[in-house]
Amino acid sequence: MKKRTKIIASLGPSTSTGTKLEKMMLAGTDVFRINLSHTSIEDAKTLIDLVRSKEKKMGRPVAVMIDLQGQKIRIKGFSKKTHITLKTGDNFIINPDLNDNGSQKQVGITYKDLYKNVYEGDELLLSDALIKLRVIKIQSKKIHTTVERGGKLKPHQGLNKKGGGLSLSGITAKDKSDLKKSLSYEYDYIAVSFVKDEKDILAIKNIIKNKDIKVIAKIERNEALKNIDKITKASDGLLVARGDLGVEIGIEQLPAAQRFLIRKAISFDKLAIVATQMMESMITNRVPTRAEVFDVANAVTSGVDAIMFSAETAIGKYPSDVINEASRICAESEGAYIRPLSVDRVVPKTLPVDQVIALSAVYSAKLTKVVAIAALTETGSTALWMSRVQSNIPIYAMTQNVKTARRICLYKGVQSIKLDRLEENHAQANMQVIGLMKKIGTVKKGDLVIITKGDLLGTSGGTNAMKVVEVGNMLEINE
Ligand code: PGA
Ligand code: MN
Repeated sequence: MKKRTKIIASLGPSTSTGTKLEKMMLAGTDVFRINLSHTSIEDAKTLIDLVRSKEKKMGRPVAVMIDLQGQKIRIKGFSKKTHITLKTGDNFIINPDLNDNGSQKQVGITYKDLYKNVYEGDELLLSDALIKLRVIKIQSKKIHTTVERGGKLKPHQGLNKKGGGLSLSGITAKDKSDLKKSLSYEYDYIAVSFVKDEKDILAIKNIIKNKDIKVIAKIERNEALKNIDKITKASDGLLVARGDLGVEIGIEQLPAAQRFLIRKAISFDKLAIVATQMMESMITNRVPTRAEVFDVANAVTSGVDAIMFSAETAIGKYPSDVINEASRICAESEGAYIRPLSVDRVVPKTLPVDQVIALSAVYSAKLTKVVAIAALTETGSTALWMSRVQSNIPIYAMTQNVKTARRICLYKGVQSIKLDRLEENHAQANMQVIGLMKKIGTVKKGDLVIITKGDLLGTSGGTNAMKVVEVGNMLEINE
């Protein structure tokens, strides 16, 4: 069974060889993510080249997402100590004047101005909220706290303020420099971490300019939730970054936030991704827990384009098992999905012709016995719009444009097919499309198929036709 939901797998030590990449693709990975928090931009290039060589060998497109490190606030080190242990009730100081010479009593911090954004009574969370500190007072740039939940604290772990409220922008000088260096690489999506408002997204778009890279906003700050409409509009998709977001807003708020963000993305016709700890236990176990199975299924039935794995595939013991399990759960949950999701879309009064054709194709397919839609597309926008409608109809996007073919890999319900060449004559192009679908095994004689395309095959924004054809009975002779 072919799944409609896409899978993003983060690359790391567990998955950085060619053989492993092949296994991951076979298991159902659609997008590989490179996290610049753990990989240098130079190593990212090597990884992308490896992915591209495997893409060629496997004969199917795959997308690559680069994830900028962003403004993650981290503590500094403890001299030579591998960790300290904070006990509940201890006093502990965050001191911006320290470097890696922290101790049992105090530690340095990457964000020197933190003290300006923190007030008495605030809750600071360390190491994904394992450790909780309460701010007692701020004195000459030092943040004095008491430990409310103790634990083991390792160097360079993350720090979040409960409720957000830090003024700093999401993008750092490192992000900008990494992005500029990456512009010549062959990747498709850039994920922007710790987005605060739409300005962060626009700043990234301003560097990308007309390069064919789409921008995904990682929602992991409380501020982002407040500015969500503008962020969604400015970006190409939202990623629910449940790790940091959960620390900032409280884990109990996550289910509502996840549902809210997915619906927000759908309402703006943007992509929706859910990430973090989806199969956390598979970092060390061969099978997911029941709760993880339900988490994946829940994301699927909420209408996401993709689910994302982080440590599970980057450093886990069973990366391709993770993808295998997830693929099966996605496919089964999609089949069981009976009630259509109703989301109010924010759509303009008049739509461009190609979008109208795309939507008509899906609606028509729902109303007749059409078994599949084939979209001949140059930019991929027809496929994107088709995939914004909740349906169970398989969509095959066929394109000669390699970048389009890769980008489409993230759109739910759309199978991306890269064509070496497309017949110029319309009747022959139809034959080519049907021939290909028969070969894949999606259609057989007598099936109805919808084909969408433009008058000028292979040109941008030109889709203006929708044709319903019966396989094996195409009346069309040469035009
Ligand atoms: P990260 O972001 O994996 O880059 O930390 C995701 C999250 O915070 O959930
Ligand atoms: Mn994060």
